[in-house]
Amino acid sequence: MVVQWYPGHMNKAKNQIQERLKLVDIVLEIRDARLPLSSRNPVLDQIINNKPRIIILNKADLADPKLTQAWLDYFNNQKQPSIALDAQHHNKLQQIRTIIEQTLQAKINKYQRNGVKNYVIRTMCIGIPNVGKSTILNKLVGKNIAVTGNKPGVTKNQNWLKAKNNLELLDTPGVLWPKIEDEQIGLKLALSGAVKDQLVNLEDLAIFALQFWQQNYSDLLLTKYHLSEAELQLTPSDLLIHLTNKWGVQEDYERAAQRVIQDVRQGNLGQYTLDEVVNDQL
Ligand code: GDP
Repeated sequence: MVVQWYPGHMNKAKNQIQERLKLVDIVLEIRDARLPLSSRNPVLDQIINNKPRIIILNKADLADPKLTQAWLDYFNNQKQPSIALDAQHHNKLQQIRTIIEQTLQAKINKYQRNGVKNYVIRTMCIGIPNVGKSTILNKLVGKNIAVTGNKPGVTKNQNWLKAKNNLELLDTPGVLWPKIEDEQIGLKLALSGAVKDQLVNLEDLAIFALQFWQQNYSDLLLTKYHLSEAELQLTPSDLLIHLTNKWGVQEDYERAAQRVIQDVRQGNLGQYTLDEVVNDQL
């Protein structure tokens, strides 16, 4: 069972993010490309007001490319700027800057009309833990790190980091907690490593994974685990028992479960996306 988990300090975090949102022109909302829906927290929708945002689907290297494209198309249809990223291995800094400039075109035009040359665009990264906020921040700022010091109205110890040209980022990302509305979301978050393993039963998690792969990525399951067509048709719990025997771990179902989970997380079972595009859900 997935344990509900809302640490008390998260309310404080929410208020702090709300304060810091006032300081930026645009928000970079980082989500996990494997979980474009489950790795969001709707609290951001409540506090963002009408501030423009760019949704970054990070860890795209681990996600199913077809579904990543489907999500980008979906966001595009909703007129929501978005980009898919593999921040760990690639540097799409220029693309992020371009999309920021496109989104703030009206504001930039106004600066230019008024002859303001040294305008600054301020932004911050926000997202649940482990989605890659710090990685993206570091990539955006790169070696150009220049702490520009506290500005009036900025929370104490809050610094702006200078990215190239006229882009500045708040030095600490806004951390939202994952919103575990139902067990499915909890399992998805746990499977991708976004919440701690202590919060879930590992066998339940592996059974969830096996079922998902049976339904969505059966070819991969077949080849990676050398299953027969008949074995592929087993119920997910029987399949876990089968794998336990096959791997010779002597009825240690938890150990077999751990192996399945590791295989999913390390990409040994291929690229995957756990959230389908659901209309009317940003
Ligand atoms: P934060 O908690 O949101 O700041 O996340 P981090 O930036 O600390 O990243 C969490 C983990 O994900 C680290 O181990 C990163 O190396 C890894 N990571 C970040 N971006 C990517 C990515 O695009 N692809 C993959 N595969 N791993 C990533």
